Amino acid sequence: MYKRIAGTKDILPDEVVLWQQIEQTIRQVFSLYNYKEIRPPVIEDAALFNRSLGESAEIVQKQMFLIHNKEDTYALRPEGTASVVRSYIENNLDKTNGFLKLYYVGPMFRFERPQKGRLRQFHHIGCEVIGSLDPDLDVEVISLANTLLTRFGISGYKIKINSLGCQKDKAKFNTNLQSALKDKINALCEDCQVRYQKNPLRILDCKNEECQKIVRGLDIYETYLCPECKDHFAKVREGLDVLKVNYEVVPYLVRGLDYYTGTVFEISHPDLGAQDALGAGGRYNNLVKELGGPDLGAIGFAFGVERLLLCMQNAAVKTQKSNLVYIISLGQTARKETIKLLDLLRKNDIIADIDYENKSLKAAMRKANDLGAKFVLIVGDDELKKGVVMLKDMQKGEQKEVNFSDLLKELKC
Ligand code: AMP
Repeated sequence: MYKRIAGTKDILPDEVVLWQQIEQTIRQVFSLYNYKEIRPPVIEDAALFNRSLGESAEIVQKQMFLIHNKEDTYALRPEGTASVVRSYIENNLDKTNGFLKLYYVGPMFRFERPQKGRLRQFHHIGCEVIGSLDPDLDVEVISLANTLLTRFGISGYKIKINSLGCQKDKAKFNTNLQSALKDKINALCEDCQVRYQKNPLRILDCKNEECQKIVRGLDIYETYLCPECKDHFAKVREGLDVLKVNYEVVPYLVRGLDYYTGTVFEISHPDLGAQDALGAGGRYNNLVKELGGPDLGAIGFAFGVERLLLCMQNAAVKTQKSNLVYIISLGQTARKETIKLLDLLRKNDIIADIDYENKSLKAAMRKANDLGAKFVLIVGDDELKKGVVMLKDMQKGEQKEVNFSDLLKELKC
């Protein structure tokens, strides 16, 4: 028997209902905020991610699913931002649309050690807004993330924000961090000793308790921001206060990818355990230019759908009522007529199905019940002779004979 690959998941029909509800909600919310959907391919030139995320990023170093094809190397996308920016530039969207608010939903791939909330194929709900440096946009994007969680019925999460500042500030942050950690290098984990040389900011992201204790005790935070970046961050906080979005400023919050600048944020939830990030995002004001486009500010975020679902298990999930009309035919003559009836119902936009397993009446009724059918139509020789069907209302538990000619009217009301 074949088995699915470790870290992947079959989303079975019962669960798909929830996924569809999530997708419906995000489409409603994103359109309320005037975002348009974009669907880039799941496979890209690997170099796009090396360049955007940074050669030393964990994803690039260890987690990309690569496909070698002659002299090209492709990657299954590990995240959406780089693809969206590539698409924005390649399709000249800056010339036709300029400022653009985009969202996407789809699978992402990272070769990670699978555990609760950590998969090798998972799904992002994400957005990217390209073409503005306005701090009010940061406020919109963070409050949009907040609105989505509220609409999903999720509570108890924490929004953590910080500012990495512009490229110059980030460089200063790195230098300050390096000098503050100079005489503590040996106490850092092995990975962080490498990070110390290559990209010190990543040390702040380390999950090792000892490393966390060391960096949290440092006195270097917010000292690296230039006046413009300080002002930008103050405006973001003010805007969030006006909208009454709860957040916490976490000065050692950084993101593990090179492209982030300015405002960064992460949303965590205690129900998630070790992998507690529900979503994350931030500004990437240099990426569009770095990938060959114009010099435009941009910001985005992504939620992991599987982690949203873990948090929604406790939240109230809307159960969808079924409008199914289930047909049970008794005998071969009736079957012919009911196939025509089935076709008629569907042509009239009525969700309908029939017992293809030729069960006994009792078993077929049980099946209709299991399917959550709203109505059952029973057609046998007697009904055919009289030109009627037996209509059973499954919610009310009542049944009556209905003339064929009145059936559509009866089912639609
Ligand atoms: P990131 O691009 O790493 O900031 O990820 C954004 C969100 O995607 C995270 O907060 C998680 O909810 C989700 N996510 C990231 N990696 C995984 C993974 N391997 N498995 C499941 N969800 C993930």
